[in-house]
Amino acid sequence: MFCPQCGKDGEKLYQGLCRSCVIKKAHLITCPGEVEVTICAHCNSNLQGNRWKDSDLGDDEIIIENLTENIEAFESAEYVDLSFQIINQRGSRWEVLVEAQGRILGAEVKDECTVDVKINRAVCPECSKYASGYYEAVIQLRADKRALDDLEIEKANSVLKKILGKLVEKNRMAYLADKVVLKEGIDYYVGSYNAARSVVNGLKDVLGGMVGESPRLMGRDKSSGKDLYRIWISIRLPSFRKGDFICQNESMGRVVNMDGRGILLEDIESFKMHSIPWKQYKQMKKVSDSRMVKKTTITNITPHHIQVLHPENYEPLDLDIMPHMTDFQIGEEVDVVELDQKIYILKKDEKL
Ligand SMILES: [Zn+2]
Ligand SMILES: [Zn+2]
Repeated sequence: MFCPQCGKDGEKLYQGLCRSCVIKKAHLITCPGEVEVTICAHCNSNLQGNRWKDSDLGDDEIIIENLTENIEAFESAEYVDLSFQIINQRGSRWEVLVEAQGRILGAEVKDECTVDVKINRAVCPECSKYASGYYEAVIQLRADKRALDDLEIEKANSVLKKILGKLVEKNRMAYLADKVVLKEGIDYYVGSYNAARSVVNGLKDVLGGMVGESPRLMGRDKSSGKDLYRIWISIRLPSFRKGDFICQNESMGRVVNMDGRGILLEDIESFKMHSIPWKQYKQMKKVSDSRMVKKTTITNITPHHIQVLHPENYEPLDLDIMPHMTDFQIGEEVDVVELDQKIYILKKDEKL
């Protein structure tokens, strides 16, 4: 065949030209003259098309990523390697030299171009939500019939900080927008509803309590057409604390532990453990607390009875001997508690 470019005859033609004319004439790469890159000034995510993409890259790496996508390689090139060199930078304007190495029809070829890159600093939608104090959920930490104590507040703050700190690596909306301390408790305003749920689960694991949720319709998202809800999640800690004495199903028990699953009660006579789910909280009545535990002395022991002095009026009391009292001795000091006008002798060394 005859090459219309160089006039050579008897050559195989590629896209109408002979091999050496294709190699001579082809551009290995086609570069845009100018590229604009939009980067969030707060979090470094960058706009790709009309979507913001999270990034932990530096400006130069974002530019290279962007150029790589915007440079077209010669269609039938067998391979193309690109390398980039920043040759000039003034303010938001960068000049980048792009060098390409590749192969066309078996021949090694080189090409290069320079691209002007303009960096636009903007604020991505998520950062602007953060900046405007946007939140999807409010966690209301309360206690039943009492105020929160300092230790509970301290624990709650540290659980919240730890969980959000971990989540924010994957979810930038996992931030605390505001914290309001009220007479009745604390309100935590959280950017993401899912993050708020994780925090509440974490709080419940550490402090126990009952969780309730109430969504409120706030309007409609104009771009997606979806209803916008804001969710109030309440976590209510019980009126009692670890070490308190509880009447439940007519038996007396002491609160040994509380967590996400329920309340661990130790029966005051058999010392058997019972796990009570939070949904039975309403049936539990606090009858006394750790401060009401008193010391007294054993004055006599018989095969079936043990005698102690009443901790307040010092009258001798004869009580049934229980399995946990087998190693008790006359003259020994023991802990007792009065519940519903009855004196109970506690286990030795029970620290709650
Ligand atoms: Zn030719
Ligand atoms: Zn951002």
